[in-house]
Amino acid sequence: MAAESHDVLIVGGGHNALVAATYLARAGLDVVVLERLDHVGGAAVSTPSFGGHDARLSRFSYLVSLMPDALIEELGLDLELRSRPTASYTPYDGGGLLVETDEGEATRASFRALTGSDAEHDAWQRFYADVATLADAVAPTLLGPLPHIGDVRDKVEMATWTDLVDEPIGRAIERRFANDLVRGVVGTDALIGTFASLHDRSLVQNRCFLYHLVGNGTGEWRVPVGGMGAVTGELERVARAAGAEIRTGCEVTAVDAGDDRVTVRGDGFEVTAGWMLSGVAPYVLAGLVGDRTPPPKPSGAQLKVNVLVSRLPRLRSGDDPAVAFAGTFHVNESMSQVEALHAAASRGEAPFASGELYCHTLTDRSILGPELAASDAQTLTWFGLHAPYENLPDESAGEAAYRQFVEALDAHLAEPLEPLILAVEHKTPAQVEAALNMPGGHIFHGDLQWPWLEEGEKPHTPAERWGVATSHPRVLLCGSGARRGGAVSGLAGHHAAHALLDFIEA
Ligand SMILES: Cc1cc2nc3c(=O)[nH]c(=O)nc-3n(C[C@H](O)[C@H](O)[C@H](O)COP(=O)(O)OP(=O)(O)OC[C@H]3O[C@@H](n4cnc5c(N)ncnc54)[C@H](O)[C@@H]3O)c2cc1C
Repeated sequence: MAAESHDVLIVGGGHNALVAATYLARAGLDVVVLERLDHVGGAAVSTPSFGGHDARLSRFSYLVSLMPDALIEELGLDLELRSRPTASYTPYDGGGLLVETDEGEATRASFRALTGSDAEHDAWQRFYADVATLADAVAPTLLGPLPHIGDVRDKVEMATWTDLVDEPIGRAIERRFANDLVRGVVGTDALIGTFASLHDRSLVQNRCFLYHLVGNGTGEWRVPVGGMGAVTGELERVARAAGAEIRTGCEVTAVDAGDDRVTVRGDGFEVTAGWMLSGVAPYVLAGLVGDRTPPPKPSGAQLKVNVLVSRLPRLRSGDDPAVAFAGTFHVNESMSQVEALHAAASRGEAPFASGELYCHTLTDRSILGPELAASDAQTLTWFGLHAPYENLPDESAGEAAYRQFVEALDAHLAEPLEPLILAVEHKTPAQVEAALNMPGGHIFHGDLQWPWLEEGEKPHTPAERWGVATSHPRVLLCGSGARRGGAVSGLAGHHAAHALLDFIEA
C-alpha cells in the first residue's frame, strides 16, 4: 500500500492536538489529525452520561484555568468561561468554612467562626499574596519558549521561592497556618491529579500546586458554559476552518520515526509526513515507536464520580447548599486526613474517601435538557484523591470507592444523598485508561514538570526551547506530557506548533 503523504500528521485528537492543528494549518501546512475514538477532545468532552436523562455533563475534566485568555482570543474561540461566586466551602463538625471568590466579610467571619480569631485569615491573605507574585512571574511566560529559572526567580521574594519551589510545600503550609482544616484547603491544590505526601521530597506536589494557582495570573478556575464539550467543539471548529483534516476511528498502532520522515500505521491505513506531533502520552508514544527504554508507566490516583440529583442535599451545618456547592466543596481534606490517606493508600489500603465536589449546574444550566433545567435537578462532580490505579484494579473496587464517597458526603448532610440520586457514573484510573488510552489513568499523561529551564539547562533545538522535544528529531510532543502540558490549557499544542514553525523557518 502506498502511504499517503502530508506535511504534518498528529497522533491523537485531544484538545491540545486541535490547537496545534489550527496553528499549523493557518500557517499553510497540510495537516491531518488521527484519533482512535469516534470523536475528538480526549479528556475534554461532554457526554450524555446519565442514561435516559437529558444532561450533557463534562465527563472527565470540568473546570478551566490554565488556558490563557490570549490563546482563546488568538484562536478566535467563541467560549464563555464563567466565574463562580464561591471559591470553596469546607464543612466541619458544627459549621462550614466559606471562601468567596471575591473575598469579603463573609470569608473573614467564616475563618473567625472556625478558629476563634482573625489570625488564620490574615495568614491566608499573606500566603496568597505571596503566591500571586509567583503566578504573576510565571503566567506571562506561558505562551513563549521556556523561560530560564533565573528569569522567574528574580521576580519573586526569596522566601516565597523557598516556600513554593525549593522545599516541600507541606513545610510552608505547616509553618504559615495553625489550623488543620485550613492547611488542608490550601494543600489540596497540590494533590489534584498527584499522588504524593505534601512533604514529598520529589516536589511533584509543589509543581501541581503551581499549576493550580498560575492560570491567567489569578489561578481562578472557571466554568466552561456548555461544559468541556463546548471547549473542544470550538477547537474543532477553528481547526477545520483553518483547513486541518480530522479523522476519527483511526487508531495508530505503529510509528516509524525516521531522520527525515515519519510514517504511521493502523488498521487499513498508512500515513507519512515530514513531521509528526504526538498528542498521546509519552509512555504511549514510546510503545508506538518501539523505544527500547520507555519512560516508567504513569499511575493516576483519582476517583471520578458524576451524579445527577433531583435537588441539592441539605447540609448539617444549616448553610445554604446553593452557596456551599457553588465552588469547590472539600470533604475529608484536612491536612492530617490527606496525609493519613496518602500513607494508607501507599500501603494498598483505602480507609476513607477524601476529595472535592463541584456543581456545574449552579453556574450553568445549559447542559440540561428543558425538563431537567426547569426542575431543581443539579449535577455533582466528585474528584477523589489518593485512589491509586493499583488499588482499584476492577469494577468492584470502583464500586466500593463510590460507596465510600457517598458515606463521606453523608457525614456532612442533614439527609442521606442516595434518595436524591437520579443517575450516577464513576470512573477509576483504570477506567480512565481504558476510555482514553491515558496510561495508568494519569490525568496529566505523567507527573507535572516545572514550567522553566533548570539551572544549566541549555536548549539546542526549537523543540527543546519550547519544551516539546522527544528523542526522535521529527517527532514533537503536543499533548499533556509536554513540559508545560498538563490540564486543559492548549499550551502543549501551541508550543508544539510554534516549535515546528521555528524549525521550518530556520
Ligand atoms: C477525570 C479527569 C478530570 C480532570 N479534570 C480537569 C479539570 O477540571 N481541568 C483541567 O484543566 N484538567 C483536568 N484534567 C486533565 C486534562 O483533562 C488533561 O490534562 C487534558 O485534557 C489532556 O489533553 P490532551 O489533548 O493533551 O490529551 P488527551 O485528552 O489525553 O487526548 C489524547 C487523545 O489521543 C487519543 N489516542 C490515544 N492513543 C491513540 C492512538 N494510538 N491513536 C490515535 N489516537 C490515540 C485518545 O483517544 C485521546 O482522544 C482532568 C483529567 C481527568 C482524566
